[in-house]
Amino acid sequence: MDLNTPITGASRSYKMYARRLAKLGIFKLYDFLFHIPFRYEDYSLISQINQIQAGELVTIKGRVEKIENSYTRRWKSLQKAKISDNTGTIDIIWFNQPYIPKALKAKDEVSLSGKVQQEKNGFIMISPDYEVILNNQTIHTGRLVPIYPETKGVSSKWIRRQVFKILEELKNFDDYIPAELIKNNNLIDLSSAIKAIHFPKNQNEAKKARERLSFDEMLKLHLSSLNRKREWQKEKIKPWNVGLFNKKIADFIKSLPFELTVAQKRAVDEVLNDLNSDKPMNRLLEGDVGSGKTVVAAIAAYVAYLNGFQTAFMAPTEILARQHFKTLASLFLPLGIAVELFSSESKINRRFDVAVGTHALIYKKVKFDKLGLVVIDEQQRFGVEQRAMLRLKGQNPHLLTMTATPIPRTVALTMYGDLDLSILDEMPKGRINIKTWLVPPLKRENAYEWIKGKVKKENDQVFIICPLIEESENMTTVKAAKKEFERLSSEVFSDLKLGLLHGKLKSREKEDVLSAFKNRRLDILVSTPVVEVGIDIPSATIMLIEESERFGLAQLHQLRGRVGRGNKQSFCLLFTSSTNPQTLKRLKAMEQIYSGPKLAELDLKLRGPGNIYGTMQHGIPMLKIASFSDLDLIQKTKEAAMQIFNKLSDYPKLVESVKLSDKKIYPD
Ligand code: ADP
Ligand code: MG
Repeated sequence: MDLNTPITGASRSYKMYARRLAKLGIFKLYDFLFHIPFRYEDYSLISQINQIQAGELVTIKGRVEKIENSYTRRWKSLQKAKISDNTGTIDIIWFNQPYIPKALKAKDEVSLSGKVQQEKNGFIMISPDYEVILNNQTIHTGRLVPIYPETKGVSSKWIRRQVFKILEELKNFDDYIPAELIKNNNLIDLSSAIKAIHFPKNQNEAKKARERLSFDEMLKLHLSSLNRKREWQKEKIKPWNVGLFNKKIADFIKSLPFELTVAQKRAVDEVLNDLNSDKPMNRLLEGDVGSGKTVVAAIAAYVAYLNGFQTAFMAPTEILARQHFKTLASLFLPLGIAVELFSSESKINRRFDVAVGTHALIYKKVKFDKLGLVVIDEQQRFGVEQRAMLRLKGQNPHLLTMTATPIPRTVALTMYGDLDLSILDEMPKGRINIKTWLVPPLKRENAYEWIKGKVKKENDQVFIICPLIEESENMTTVKAAKKEFERLSSEVFSDLKLGLLHGKLKSREKEDVLSAFKNRRLDILVSTPVVEVGIDIPSATIMLIEESERFGLAQLHQLRGRVGRGNKQSFCLLFTSSTNPQTLKRLKAMEQIYSGPKLAELDLKLRGPGNIYGTMQHGIPMLKIASFSDLDLIQKTKEAAMQIFNKLSDYPKLVESVKLSDKKIYPD
């Protein structure tokens, strides 16, 4: 069996599933093996029928005596069976699964796992998992049964069957981890790990498998960081002149309308140091929304200009690009530095020093004759491909990446081990914490009244964030936002002016809505969570978030950061109808903690890393099995990576595997 067979080229039955499987990241047969169960159903207690007890989660094996479809008095379908073994007989009931009598027939030897219930006439099992026993083996019952991430039309049961089939045919799996690492870290071999992660004999075996595969995943992450770092630093460059322009740089900083915070000064120093070295800078500037990252980048761009270099300033959206353009233009035009905005339509042939735009900047039309600095806002990782693009253009620029995503330090150091890290952990003076309240359904009306009062009496402006219905912003989410917009406009805030913003608007329309809001022609902006990426509207002071429990704390923190940008007291109302005490406790943290990294750290503990950022946060790769909260693992694998990095070429299979997982973890 060739594990590299793409799903689309495999058997016909797979072909039908290709699109659904792609959603789960399964493109090749191989990917099934690395589709990791997130838990196991414990069906390992096997009992004879006369031994079972009420309430037990148990597996029985026996013969089908009778099985049939029947109907309740209300015409709901019902499946009834009688199963017997050498010791007795038991009744089984399923609801509304008329296909079961086709799968299990009289006289079949079957295995059933489920809860036992006491009825008037003895025990029964209701809706157990079931299968016909073939070759004395069971897959879905009578063992620890793997439960997988599913998607519509692809059940755990179906995945389980595929994995089982593949594992049966596959005899051995070549290990790619150097034997010394396996030994020193007390790991099991890869073949055993893959078999055991899917079909462990017991919990301990599952644990060992998880340890081994987590180790692999984290190790590869470190190796790939080390590799990128080495690649990045391969080419020496001529250090820029910084000392020569000390006075000019200081004057520029003095001319700013504010004094830099201590954190900003530190970050500027770190950046200047990089620019002054013979290796291209590759730095991540992390700071909460409003911590003032832009100006740090602007100073770097100024130094680029002084050294005769151009800067490309890239933002993830056109809205943000426009905003950066305005900021930079106001700083630079007075100094005679030419700033240009490149939108998807524009073609500019004038000479420029600073180009602002989306990522299209470095791909297409824009001709740089002396690109020296690339600033990327809100994208943690400069795509390998983009880097290659720049090399093709013959440029080896300094790179400054900025993010407001509160990444816990340990995560940043693992994930972005190739980057140097500067953190703005301090807000500019005079900022007031955003008062944050959790609002249960009972207080919804009051909250609306309060908002009306604030808008009418104090001229406040409000963001209302609709829930993200599905993972990415698709039509379902947009429809929901439209509906909420209409409800609010007609029923709740009929005497106020509302606008609607969502990702499916044309960029022109978005701009119009935003400028209307910015110019106070709107009181309330109803929006899908797209605004998260960051727009600066200082006059907005109230942030209302619907179904806040759907967001991670770090995301909520980012949304909250859209207000409180001016000097007026701002507010954040977290609507939730959840009654789950843990959820409420998690959300309550928003009322007390105002530091992004702290909230991220907390969410990492409470919900696990898969959930901190949600899927709409780009640039944060999701781990399949390892966990960023496992500091021990991070440390162990880091040491292992250092140990073998210099002789990596001795392990071509490992190199291959790092490349492969790189592609998966950081899709471009
Ligand atoms: P972010 O880090 O979210 O990108 P910005 O760079 O957009 O933040 O800055 C947010 C606002 O704070 C801007 O209006 C900016 O002019 C202002 N600002 C930046 N640094 C300072 C400072 N040291 N003191 C006062 N205001 C500042
Ligand atoms: Mg910003």
